[in-house]
Amino acid sequence: MPSSTIQVHDKSFEVFISKEKIHERIAELAEQISKDYAGLNPLFIGILNGSFIFASDLFRALSIDAEISFIKLASYKGTSSSGNVITAIGMDENIYQRHIIITEDIVDTGKTMVTFLPELLQRNPASVKIASFLSKPEARQHKIEPDYIGFEIPNKFVVGYGLDYDRLGRNLPDLYIISSNSPEGEV
Ligand code: 5GP
Repeated sequence: MPSSTIQVHDKSFEVFISKEKIHERIAELAEQISKDYAGLNPLFIGILNGSFIFASDLFRALSIDAEISFIKLASYKGTSSSGNVITAIGMDENIYQRHIIITEDIVDTGKTMVTFLPELLQRNPASVKIASFLSKPEARQHKIEPDYIGFEIPNKFVVGYGLDYDRLGRNLPDLYIISSNSPEGEV
């Protein structure tokens, strides 16, 4: 059993979803995706850094031909009234007429995906779907709904299984949620 309470920087976290539950759920998602995409050779685009563990576990559990590539999204303030702009670093695959499955660690407000999707769609893929390890429906501020969701979680900060708190915690095999008695403040 993992230690049920851990400390990352100044905050304490408790086990929320065990690695066994995570792997069971990923096997189900992989089975569903393998059915939905049989014969289509989908291209997975993993969003770094957070999704690297989810993307590789999901990818290895597939039973169909598929490809994978990783990109990093950098957000900066645009000069136009449209606000933040997102650039995809490492987006060197030709995605024209490809079936794309974006893999994300978590869809929170939905801002990252709502900003990135138009850039992807400009390149005329055959289809685009989102597979997100986690979703926080209560936090949503944009009209984005992942097509494949590992777990829906409450609007609280989580670490582990690829997700970090100020760079630490990504290597924890289980998912941890911030303890209710943890000091308040920005995470
Ligand atoms: P969104 O653009 O949907 O608001 O946020 C997406 C990004 O916020 C995620 O890719 C992730 O990096 C970060 N994020 C949102 N909620 C959490 C959380 O509970 N824990 C961690 N570690 N990152 C989060």
